[in-house]
Amino acid sequence: MNDILLVKYAEIHLKGLNRPYFQNLLLKRVKEAVRPFSRDVQFYDSRIFIRGIRDVDAAVERVRKVFGVHAVCPAVEMDKADFNAICAQAANLMASLNGTFKVRARRADKRYFLDSPEINARIGGFVLENHPGLKVDVHQPEHVLNVEIRDQALLYAREVPGVGGLPTGSSGKAMLMLSGGIDSPVAGYMIAKRGVVLNAVHFFSFPYTGELAREKVLSLARILAGYCGVVKTYVVSFTKLQEAIHTYCPPEYSTLVMRRLMVRITDLLAERERAAALITGESIGQVASQTMEALAVTDVMSSRPVFRPLIGFDKIEIIHLAENIGTYETSSLPYEDCCTVFTPRHPVTRPKISKVLEAEAAIPQAEALVAVAVETAEILYIGPDEADDTLSSETA
Ligand code: ATP
Ligand code: MG
Repeated sequence: MNDILLVKYAEIHLKGLNRPYFQNLLLKRVKEAVRPFSRDVQFYDSRIFIRGIRDVDAAVERVRKVFGVHAVCPAVEMDKADFNAICAQAANLMASLNGTFKVRARRADKRYFLDSPEINARIGGFVLENHPGLKVDVHQPEHVLNVEIRDQALLYAREVPGVGGLPTGSSGKAMLMLSGGIDSPVAGYMIAKRGVVLNAVHFFSFPYTGELAREKVLSLARILAGYCGVVKTYVVSFTKLQEAIHTYCPPEYSTLVMRRLMVRITDLLAERERAAALITGESIGQVASQTMEALAVTDVMSSRPVFRPLIGFDKIEIIHLAENIGTYETSSLPYEDCCTVFTPRHPVTRPKISKVLEAEAAIPQAEALVAVAVETAEILYIGPDEADDTLSSETA
């Protein structure tokens, strides 16, 4: 008898001829995630089997967060020949439970000496005899005891929902503009869930923004890495550009010019990374720089699509998502973002592109400052655990 994890996937089943590609990638991602707890990870029968696990709960927590995983079931694997032992193990699995249950048998091995209804009846009867606190309800049971008869017998009563989506790396790469706020980590999560590899780009303005703001952003990247693996993170010094904007641009246009230059720098980094898109946490009307007109004047600074998965979400909805994925607490720590330094009192909400271009043209050497920001960006590799950071302080 073995304690194993049975990993199920969902959307990949819909794939046609390239299904093996997605299955292999998912297997690779599950192996990477569970490596500290097991090295015995195998694919067969359209599922992934993880054996020889050191800490089952910790392994479940890792695996349920792998994109592409529909559910993780802590299961017992045993010899199917000894039906009495299977009954005993079934009773054992149900020992700590109360309320209603049913047995759901599936018999992949059609030559097995009992058919599914017989397995249900015999195991159900045995569990009832041993646990008088449980009752059978075949329509709406509180617990389902799954019994699968394949090459071996598999028993499980717990199915932990996975995060779903597609395996990381199946959809290319995008640059996430990551601030320390609530929105951008959620936006990154949503795109990463579709199989996209994330690189993060963070702008900071030392000394206007401090070390803590930077640490906070790296913590957010680390939480995202718990889902999608190492997040290559560019930390871009924005101080010189921000001072220049403050000095030369009319205040009501300064936020927009700043956002345009951030997008421009991110697009240049995307070029180096061969990333296909940018991601931001913007939603319509949230602040002055997120009106449709303002979004239009920042969009034109990128030569690739800018994804804004939160575009139609209310702040409350975004907060719920942030709580679910585990970024809310970190995002709520106090910090100053370079967007909030030098914020004008009356930013334009319906900017005209001609005025924006005029404001931007007033900055001497803007393109040279942009180039320096790109060249001097610091690169960090942020893994789910601090220990896995292949922390190299390269520059771009
Ligand atoms: P968030 O809650 O994610 O900070 P926000 O509602 O505060 O977003 P803004 O500050 O206007 O909105 O920023 C809009 C988007 O621009 C953010 O969601 C993020 O994608 C990007 N952004 C803002 N500040 C930074 C920064 N310092 N570094 C990188 N990206 C940033
Ligand atoms: Mg912000």
